[in-house]
Amino acid sequence: MSDLKTIAEEANERLADASAVEVLAWARETFGDELVVTASMADGALPHLAAEAAPGVDVLFIDTGYHFAETIGTRDAVAATLPIHLINATPQQTVAEQDAEYGEKLHDRDPNKCCALRKVEPLNRYLSGYKAWVTGIRREEAPTRANTPVVEYDAKRDMVKLNPIAPWTQEDLDAYIQDNGVLVNLLQYDGYPSIGCEPCTQRVAPGEDPRSGRWAGTGKVECGLHT
Ligand code: SF4
Repeated sequence: MSDLKTIAEEANERLADASAVEVLAWARETFGDELVVTASMADGALPHLAAEAAPGVDVLFIDTGYHFAETIGTRDAVAATLPIHLINATPQQTVAEQDAEYGEKLHDRDPNKCCALRKVEPLNRYLSGYKAWVTGIRREEAPTRANTPVVEYDAKRDMVKLNPIAPWTQEDLDAYIQDNGVLVNLLQYDGYPSIGCEPCTQRVAPGEDPRSGRWAGTGKVECGLHT
């Protein structure tokens, strides 16, 4: 059994009811500089928590080349205002290079391939230097996320995966943002409660499933980062 698997299982039992900051502080103490936080920049809540628990921590943003300008603006504002070390993870190919090899708008014809090239490959490549990574997954976001543990063993990458805000409801997240003056992606106020790449994200009506605007009409519900 991998040492990291044992560490993850023991920590998940011990930290099941711990606060998000306590989980992140444990991760920093345990993994030091081999800890990295991933952030989609739908808001700055996870980087804000990480900055409190682990100042100077590496924060990874996967820059697919297809993000909304508002998301890039949120990334830059978060990096400029929090004591974190932002790492901008880029795919092997630019969008133009990908278009030349696979044809334009691969996201419309084969979104799984596009996500594999522009999200999953860079994530795996950049994570390879770390022992533990942090996500902002919350259980209530989607049925595929309902059983997310706070600490788990990521067997595919032989890493510890931390999901410190897994138990948070939308109300918990909103309260944290409000109470701490956390930066929020402006698209959230414009009908985009879940924000991905621009070609694959649509507005949703008030009261609709927040993730229903992601890859709408394709049957795809996850980009592959967490599956
Ligand atoms: Fe490509 Fe869409 Fe996936 Fe972004 S979300 S990597 S544009 S398929």
